[in-house]
Amino acid sequence: MFNWLNISMTRKISSLSFILLSFLFVVIFYSAYQSQRIYKEMHEVAEIDVPLSEVMADIEMLQLKQHLLMESIRQQGDAFFANKSMQAKSVKGFDEFSEQLAAQLDKSTEILHTGLGFGSVRIKLLDHKALIEQINLLHQHRMSFDRLVDDFLEQDKQGFSTSWQILEQQDKDLDAQADEMLRKIDQLTMNVSATVESQERHFVIMNAILGVSAFGIGTYLTLYIIITFRKRIWSLRGQIESLHRSIVIEHDNTSLSYKGLDELDELETDLKALVGQFSKEMSNRHKVETQLIELATRDKLTGTFNRHKWDEQIKDELALANRGHHFSLILLDVDHFKKINDGFGHDVGDNVLKLLVNTLRKRLRETDVLFRIGGEEFAILLRDTNLKDAGVLAEQLRKKIDHLNENGMPPFTISLGVTDYQDFDDQTRIVKRADILLYEAKGAGRNRVVVG
Ligand code: GH3
Ligand code: MG
Ligand code: MG
Repeated sequence: MFNWLNISMTRKISSLSFILLSFLFVVIFYSAYQSQRIYKEMHEVAEIDVPLSEVMADIEMLQLKQHLLMESIRQQGDAFFANKSMQAKSVKGFDEFSEQLAAQLDKSTEILHTGLGFGSVRIKLLDHKALIEQINLLHQHRMSFDRLVDDFLEQDKQGFSTSWQILEQQDKDLDAQADEMLRKIDQLTMNVSATVESQERHFVIMNAILGVSAFGIGTYLTLYIIITFRKRIWSLRGQIESLHRSIVIEHDNTSLSYKGLDELDELETDLKALVGQFSKEMSNRHKVETQLIELATRDKLTGTFNRHKWDEQIKDELALANRGHHFSLILLDVDHFKKINDGFGHDVGDNVLKLLVNTLRKRLRETDVLFRIGGEEFAILLRDTNLKDAGVLAEQLRKKIDHLNENGMPPFTISLGVTDYQDFDDQTRIVKRADILLYEAKGAGRNRVVVG
């Protein structure tokens, strides 16, 4: 039971549904079985009830005929013995009565035996025995009545009244015995029907109990699922709401209070809103991250990559060069920059640096990367460029700066040291080599390129 509380929702619902379905299956199976049984019993009852009722009706008819015959003889009185045709008719009537009564009694015995053989229909053995005894008794009365009829017919008219009284008495006894038998048959059929009726009642009650139980289990299951789902969904919505609040942008006051078709619809909408908020937040963060990276790697004044980026990039470039990707390096420095600052002011000095960068950029290719590595000192990484081409480019850059004639800007020149990657170079070696070349250019009078 405790383990059951800890299993997943799917398994809980599946197991409860399984119990409910199994229960319903038992109810259906039980109903089908009981209906079949009751149908069979009704059928068997009909096989006893109907023929016994017929026998009862026939016997009652025979009794009536017998009464009429007796009555007509009684009314004749002494004249009966003189009337030969009447005598013959009466003899025939008595014979028929006896024969038909015997036949009906045999038929009842047979029906009762058949009924006992069914088994499922509860004819009590005692009832059966009592009825058979009653039938046998009736047979005996019938036979003694036959004998009395014979005696009566052999009488002369002097003896009519005496023997008639005996015969009439015997007839009354026979009648009473037949009534008793009919009553017992009636009682027996009623008992059999009552047994089946009580079973039917029992079946209906049992079915009602099973139905109510199934309804109870179904209701419990439904309520359990609804309550559990609602609880979980509320808890989920709560968590989504607080998550939403924690990530929502300050000026954005949107709250998750959507009222939908149902809880799942609301949950889905909340989740969609949250996912939307997340992706907005992610793209914002991505932008901020990019800006931060830019800030961290770019020089604020000129917009070129900074010293930090230079240190990273030169390492990557050297690693690539070790794998066969050749590159060249230009180090350049503004000549007598101090004088510009001193002569025109620091702001003009800044503008000179900006102008220098813009002019260099116009000439550089996309694959060439420009870094500001000191105050007025720059480095240019030239990918897949040999020393000769790098020298040519450096010379072009020098000339371009030398020939600049910008309004309000003082003229200035640059000196450049150019080298390329050589085996076993590391950052210090290649930079030092370029630096020496740059200072060679300075030493040689500035505004020139030294390649080496
Ligand atoms: P050389 O030809 O030998 O390079 O002489 P120089 O005057 O250019 O070199 P020096 O190293 O003596 O002077 C560099 C000056 O650059 C010193 C510093 O004040 C100035 N400087 C450095 N960074 C900036 C900057 O961002 N803006 C301005 N306006 N000046 C800067
Ligand atoms: Mg300088
Ligand atoms: Mg310098």
